[in-house]
Amino acid sequence: MENVEIVRCYCFNPLCKSSIFASKKNTTVFEPLSRVMSEQIRCKYCNEELVSKPLLKIKNQINGCLHDDVQADASVVDKNSISYLFETISQ
Ligand SMILES: [Zn+2]
Repeated sequence: MENVEIVRCYCFNPLCKSSIFASKKNTTVFEPLSRVMSEQIRCKYCNEELVSKPLLKIKNQINGCLHDDVQADASVVDKNSISYLFETISQ
C-alpha cells in the first residue's frame, strides 16, 4: 500500500468511554481516507459513526447549502473549536 492518506476519526458519543469526551484515553482512530469516504466507520465500543475532517467538510458544505437546517444535525460540533484535532498528520 502506497500513497495512502490517513485521517483521524473520533467518536463524539458523550456516553462512550472511547469518545473524545473521555479525555484520559487516546480516542483517535486512524483510518485510510479511501475507507472513510467509501463507508461509515463506526466506534468499536458504542457503534456510533466516527467523525473525520473530510466528512465534517462535506457536512458543512451540505449545511451551507441548506442554510435553515444547520442546527438539524446537532452531532456536528463547531468546526472551529475542534479544528486542532484534525491537523495534518506528518509521517
Ligand atoms: Zn464510541
